Amino acid sequence: MADDIFTPDFEFKPYWWDAAPRPTDDPGPMPKDADVAIVGSGYTGLSAALTLAKAGCKVVVFEADVPGYGASSRNGGMVGPALSLSSAKKLMETHGRERGAGILQEGLNAVEYLVDLVVREKIDCKLQMAGRFKGAARPGQLDGMAREIEDIQKLVDWKAHVVPKSQQHDHIGSDRYHGGMVIHRDGGLHPGLYHLGLLEAVRRAGVTVLPKTPVTGVVRERQRVAVTTTRGEVSAGHALVATNGYTGPFAAEFRRRVIPIRSAIIATEPIPKQQMDRLMPKRHMLVENKHIHCYYRPSPDHTRIVFGGRALHQGSADAERENARDLHQRMVEIFPETVTTKVSRYWSGYVAFTFDERPHLGLMDGIHYAMGYCGSGVTRSTYFGHRIAQQIMGMPEGKTAYDGLPFETRPLYYGKPWFLPPVLAWYRFADKVGL
Ligand SMILES: Cc1cc2nc3c(=O)[nH]c(=O)nc-3n(C[C@H](O)[C@H](O)[C@H](O)COP(=O)(O)OP(=O)(O)OC[C@H]3O[C@@H](n4cnc5c(N)ncnc54)[C@H](O)[C@@H]3O)c2cc1C
Repeated sequence: MADDIFTPDFEFKPYWWDAAPRPTDDPGPMPKDADVAIVGSGYTGLSAALTLAKAGCKVVVFEADVPGYGASSRNGGMVGPALSLSSAKKLMETHGRERGAGILQEGLNAVEYLVDLVVREKIDCKLQMAGRFKGAARPGQLDGMAREIEDIQKLVDWKAHVVPKSQQHDHIGSDRYHGGMVIHRDGGLHPGLYHLGLLEAVRRAGVTVLPKTPVTGVVRERQRVAVTTTRGEVSAGHALVATNGYTGPFAAEFRRRVIPIRSAIIATEPIPKQQMDRLMPKRHMLVENKHIHCYYRPSPDHTRIVFGGRALHQGSADAERENARDLHQRMVEIFPETVTTKVSRYWSGYVAFTFDERPHLGLMDGIHYAMGYCGSGVTRSTYFGHRIAQQIMGMPEGKTAYDGLPFETRPLYYGKPWFLPPVLAWYRFADKVGL
């Protein structure tokens, strides 16, 4: 496909940064001490900072780049509980029914926490709970979806229904799928505005956010934690590592436990309202029921298609253009009438997977952490940030169904996922044959 898929004003930049440019303020002076030092200014770090500061703690947030530089200003903005029945079932086998149901319930709690937070802090992030359509990639999947809904509903109060292929066009203007399911209490927000709203809220609460201040070490020394940065050292009562897919060598033990995977997104030029009404009639969030899937949605103002998936190429501007072309091609496969629709923005970022495909929070070697949202972290990072903050303060409310689950690594894994190519090849094969 030729370069004419790109608009004249095409940029390699998150579309979200148009309405929510990244703040470029000077870092300001370094404090000498803090009750809690947080590494990472994404949703996890800021949500934790907000809960801590509102309880009276002196909090400093360190950010290596500009605030929200990581996934929190680059994501698709899809909000939801990310319930996984297979994960809950595995837990039930080893830890009992209560733990499995508890994990599902945490997903639902997370959605309500985010929705309340947006209202409470008056964050204008265009949150719209319009539901999510998950398209069946193969004919046989619809029965499995119906069973999954039934099984989850036996455990928690969750609303979803199956959509037969004959009614698919009520939800998506595409013949690509074999029906699907609609998850009711899911939705979307503007990730950049959500991040800026959180940043304003933490600053209002008295938190010091220090951009351009990479942390180089976090070491527990008896009663205090020594946090070293490129601009000096801070002594803190507690430290929280909230770096998710951007966890670097400064936190080697955490880096060994998360698998960074790059995801990329394109935003199209504006499309006519009638076309949007045809393609995304309910303004749902849209995903595919596959191992390697695309996720897509209308922009919050319903004028553009925002379309994401795995970033296959990297290393040069040409490779990134190739990713943009791949995503455009996949969009056209789903919506053939978008073949002439041009791409105005392309960007990518890192998500963090874990070896058990579950997020984790807790305390390791005297350092708190919350990370590993496996690509579904808008809602869960906000919630985990809040809960880990409560745990740091020793509050019983901070307890979660995730507590105490082993945060695993694998021999010979130090943070560079050398095993990804064969794993992805296996998933591609599994998608092809329907495993
Ligand atoms: C392209 C893409 C699409 C996505 N789409 C969705 C979606 O639609 N829905 C959904 O639920 N989730 C989605 N996600 C996942 C979601 O965005 C993340 O799970 C979530 O933002 C994680 O937030 P976080 O605060 O934990 O980490 P991040 O937002 O990644 O923040 C980590 C921060 O730590 C900083 N940092 C790293 N090292 C240091 C250091 N040494 N010193 C100081 N700072 C440091 C980084 O610069 C970064 O800003 C997507 C992610 C990507 C990349």
